[in-house]
Amino acid sequence: MKKVLFIDRDGTLIIEPPVTFQVDSLEKLEFYPKVIRNLHKIITEMDYELVMVTNQDGLGTPAFPEDDFWLPHNKMLNVLAGEGIEFTQIHIDRSFEHENSPNRKPRTGMLKEYIQNPQYDLANSFVIGDRITDLQLAANLGAKGILVGEPTRDWVFPNEKVEEVIALISPDWDEIYDFLKIESQVSAPLERVASINRKTNETQIQIHLNLDGDGKADLSTGIGFFDHMLEQVAKHAKIDLQIMVKGDLHIDQHHTIEDTGIALGEAFLRALGNKRGIERYGHFLLPMDETLAQVAIDFSGRPWCIWQAEFRREKVGEMPTEMFSHFFKSFSDNAKCNLNIKVEGENEHHKIEAIFKAFARAVRMAIRRDLENMDLPSTKGVL
Ligand SMILES: [Mg+2]
Repeated sequence: MKKVLFIDRDGTLIIEPPVTFQVDSLEKLEFYPKVIRNLHKIITEMDYELVMVTNQDGLGTPAFPEDDFWLPHNKMLNVLAGEGIEFTQIHIDRSFEHENSPNRKPRTGMLKEYIQNPQYDLANSFVIGDRITDLQLAANLGAKGILVGEPTRDWVFPNEKVEEVIALISPDWDEIYDFLKIESQVSAPLERVASINRKTNETQIQIHLNLDGDGKADLSTGIGFFDHMLEQVAKHAKIDLQIMVKGDLHIDQHHTIEDTGIALGEAFLRALGNKRGIERYGHFLLPMDETLAQVAIDFSGRPWCIWQAEFRREKVGEMPTEMFSHFFKSFSDNAKCNLNIKVEGENEHHKIEAIFKAFARAVRMAIRRDLENMDLPSTKGVL
């Protein structure tokens, strides 16, 4: 579902000149304070589509000649585009108020495509403007309204419907940004789920992963010990994990374990999405009797796997010990994470179980998401 910010132009993006109310020359073009930096933050940090909706009384008549309008208008758009701020649509109504055009704000004649297209989530969209008519437009669209103006002013609202849509009254784009940031996260935090269907000649794998689950596991890899280890991952990472594998176990367990690592890594990469708000780093020290396992993870976007764990036995359960490192390397390559694993101890079963549990706990820390602060945990701007 797409959310939209329907943004008014005069008095909202640029200063509305007194008396004439027309920006009809370059001299009259002046941006509203702080609007550019905040629109830039809004488009880079939130999932809103920007749409401009403006009434330009008598545009194209002698009262407002075309050229006088387009020169400052295009200059404004160029400045915004230079900062990466672009509108997917610009709707301009040219009528005078007395003409009662169905396209003129607050009427919605120009905006039918949003009303009729069920892909648009208008209930979580906003009209931002400096007049009561902008709030009326919000009411007519079934959206919410942000009034750009002083909250202390004696506003007279025409009816209750308009009063109900008001989400914020503020003259300050910093405040509008802060408000939208919290609103966009609380109204619809992105689900962190992924489904993978991976088929080769050697294995068929289906995975459903929910990073915000509560530890439910439904596992069938055909290898009992492997299922037991993956169950630990779901439980201790507090994720919901469903894995169904049909592998060529009549040959050996190699492909089943390796391909499960690949598919699980892919599922994590997809479910993490844009990684906004996550801790990114996680680590855990896990003791189990005489054993100590240490796992650190970084969902950095760059694969690397350090494995310092020696096993003397060839198998634990029916799982070959040489495949443990192979599983984690495959996971790291496909989740694009840095994974650092060490273990010391005597009992082979303790050692591998401690590793899987420590891995799960480190993952739990790294994927934790703070919905109040959806920054990207990187100075580079991408993970
Ligand atoms: Mg306006």
